Amino acid sequence: MTIDTKNLTIRKAHEDLTSGKYTAVDLASAYLENIKKFDKDIHAYLEVYSDVIDQAKLADERIKEKKNITLLTGIPFSVKDNILVKGRIVSSASKMLENYHGTYDATVIKKLKEAGAVFLGRTNMDEFAMGGSTENSAFGPTHNPHDLERVPGGSSGGAVASVAGDMALVALGSDTGGSIRQPASFCGLVGLKPTYGAVSRYGLMAMGSSFDQIGPIAKNIDDAQIVFDFISGKDVMDSTTIEKPNLELKNKKLKIGIPKEAMKVEGLNPVVLKNFNEAVEKFKKLGYEVQEVSLPNIAYSLSVYYTLIPAEVSSNMARFDGVKYGLHKDGDNMVDDYFKTRQAGLGKEVVRRIILGTYVLSSGYYDAYYNKANIVRDLIREDFRKVFADVDLILIPTAPNPAFKIGEKISDPIALYLEDIFTVPANLAGVPAISIPSGFTDMNGKQLPLGIQLLSAHSNETALFKAGSDFEK
Ligand code: GLN
Repeated sequence: MTIDTKNLTIRKAHEDLTSGKYTAVDLASAYLENIKKFDKDIHAYLEVYSDVIDQAKLADERIKEKKNITLLTGIPFSVKDNILVKGRIVSSASKMLENYHGTYDATVIKKLKEAGAVFLGRTNMDEFAMGGSTENSAFGPTHNPHDLERVPGGSSGGAVASVAGDMALVALGSDTGGSIRQPASFCGLVGLKPTYGAVSRYGLMAMGSSFDQIGPIAKNIDDAQIVFDFISGKDVMDSTTIEKPNLELKNKKLKIGIPKEAMKVEGLNPVVLKNFNEAVEKFKKLGYEVQEVSLPNIAYSLSVYYTLIPAEVSSNMARFDGVKYGLHKDGDNMVDDYFKTRQAGLGKEVVRRIILGTYVLSSGYYDAYYNKANIVRDLIREDFRKVFADVDLILIPTAPNPAFKIGEKISDPIALYLEDIFTVPANLAGVPAISIPSGFTDMNGKQLPLGIQLLSAHSNETALFKAGSDFEK
């Protein structure tokens, strides 16, 4: 049985599974075969689960008995390695948690299990989600399926490579400052960062708790929307969650704003700018009204993000002390145990952020850095609120450059941070944002994908899906 995984969508697979064209076991086997064939070159997975076929058999039973069938029954997912799955290793691609087993299911996993999804394995990422290239993984980088010499983006690089490389139908990633959207754009996929609070963070290893969101990575808007519908909603285990949005668009014509400040960003690759301008023209042709808007404080986004994120990181990482979770190294005394464990367990970028964060939170500098950054974060939120009173959507590029070469930026943290310029504003404001494929650029004979990004007001994911699917047609 050969299944055309390349052109497969959730709805198509659902149709085939329920009409008996093939079974969930056939489908899972097809993906396992692809993993065997392609993943030695791509390294999307840190682990392929040993019980995939057993999971698929359970899905087949549901389908055979016509009981509890959902759109996701039998659908093969990959899971980013910072989302807890009970009984399985969850390492955040860190030596610290190399052998750590999840003690419970994250809410998103619980929901997908109930729906009958099949989990293929856990995917590579930048350690504890800090980075934008997946080169910060303690277990080696992931390669971009479109050009093996290039990064897939990050931190959800393994997740996107699993879908772009046909080694999963859909993936779960997490996005704190762009980690779903930027890699989605580097690999030609759709990536959604939901409204802060739309999806439960229970069971997601915390990086920046006031920024983190779990979201879907998929080949098209419909797949992303289906997964979002399943995983979103209020959860008693995460007090920041909100009710599922129920926004009707009523066929209203959507208005798009282009922030003039964003287009003046230094280092914006001309290839990306040209592709972006073509996307603007396409939206106009589709009947969208496009106007210039202003986000006066957006220029401070990166500085604010890279002040607040280390602060939250330094406090979230304090739990890895060699006692509670994972690795333990013996030192001369208890404090020395901490030093030895953290030195052995944590990579360079994580350590850099802990040091920076501890500094901006220290008593002499708290007001000058941490507090000030929070004040500017409020101004950025306010900018978005004002703009969304006027337009339904904001359109900007997802990343200033196409996928770069492995090794090209890794020794220069600032160069890597600059890649996040277009993605961090949505996390700072808590608004939803989606990256959608917008074409390719030829780079030395290789076709590299490009992406554009749509943002909307809190809980208005519907507008993102509507404009995204119009664009995709
Ligand atoms: N690249 C950004 C960072 O390094 C975003 C990471 C993320 O969204 N997890 O912080």
